[in-house]
Amino acid sequence: MNHIEVAERRSAHNYHPLPVVLRSGEGAWVEDVDGKRYLDCLAGYSSMNFGHGNPAILAAAREQLDRLTLTSRAFYHDQFAAFAAGLADMCGKDMILPMNTGAEAVETAIKVARKWGHERGIDEPTIIVMEDNFHGRTTTIISFSTDPDAHDGFGPYTPGFSIVKYGSAEAIEGAINRNTVAVLVEPIQGEAGVLVPPDGYLRDIRDLCTEHEILFIADEIQSGLGRTGDTFACDHEGVVPDMYVLGKALGGGVVPVSAVVANQDVLGVLKPGQHGSTFGGNPLACAVGNAVIELLRTGEFQARARELGAHLHRKLAEVKGVTAIRGRGLWAGVDIDPTIGTGRQVSQALMARGVLAKDTHGSTIRFAPPLVVSEADLTWAVEQLQGALQDL
Ligand SMILES: *Cc1c(COP(=O)(O)O)cnc(C)c1O
Repeated sequence: MNHIEVAERRSAHNYHPLPVVLRSGEGAWVEDVDGKRYLDCLAGYSSMNFGHGNPAILAAAREQLDRLTLTSRAFYHDQFAAFAAGLADMCGKDMILPMNTGAEAVETAIKVARKWGHERGIDEPTIIVMEDNFHGRTTTIISFSTDPDAHDGFGPYTPGFSIVKYGSAEAIEGAINRNTVAVLVEPIQGEAGVLVPPDGYLRDIRDLCTEHEILFIADEIQSGLGRTGDTFACDHEGVVPDMYVLGKALGGGVVPVSAVVANQDVLGVLKPGQHGSTFGGNPLACAVGNAVIELLRTGEFQARARELGAHLHRKLAEVKGVTAIRGRGLWAGVDIDPTIGTGRQVSQALMARGVLAKDTHGSTIRFAPPLVVSEADLTWAVEQLQGALQDL
């Protein structure tokens, strides 16, 4: 049986995977069904920050698998309180609302912001969002996407969003009116190509939101939990949003775990029956989440991302054929001279050389390996990029 042929014939073509069939993984490396090894420079879009098969995460999952995996929120279970308190404390907030996928957490943040607005007498609450955003794939979320692939053909669209240019606090200020309840922003835009906003942008958003008494919602699903060299990308500007939206690495690469984290005056607007999820905050998810919180407590992963990230960015700057490098910490968006090849072609040439990375938007390649990667592996990966550009 040819795996790829069957996969292509029997599953919807909503992705365009590289032609590799993976079988196992350890740390920053994965292996395909033929035994060829690859350095994983995508890390499940930062879901695998702590590496494939992280021993602490697997131990927590295994222990929980043998005891209790699902209760629904109809009852309490013995992993829940520690997860709620641990995650809230990590964010410096009062409380959490657990969901599963990132999109569900974003939906939760939108619902909470709208409810919060209604309770303040705003009948048509509007949320300010950014051009080139990526917040997930639900009908409401794609309603305010500016990516034609994500958006077009899926209407009618959910109203209540006002789209402004990313990176401009003035644009946000100009869009605020009496119906505005929140600003929803990625502190670094990942899917758009690892776009880092100008310094001071997040501080300006904080100030605007405080001044106008609206909510600052930071989608840290991809940027959070160590990737940028801090626990949160917002930390870089010393800024605390009103709501953190978390996902991806929160599930340790084992199960989908997402959450919205905020204070009582925000999350307190929800009453029983108004929101929920059968799987949200389940025992296995909480056990894994507790292990992730524990890993982040020491600051070791944040420091690795900072130091190894500096190394990665230094090395990338030496590559010929690269026209721009953006990013922070162990996260880089690399623009390739489009006369050399498309992002897809570069990804395939990298794959042939044992590096798995994915292109985004034309000729940008993303590098976001697990934070357990070694410096030597990073040096080698950048050599393969130079080699791949010469191969093309
Ligand atoms: C991946 C991602 C999401 C959506 O998460 P899913 O788990 O795929 O639903 C939302 N926001 C950002 C910034 C992301 O990177």
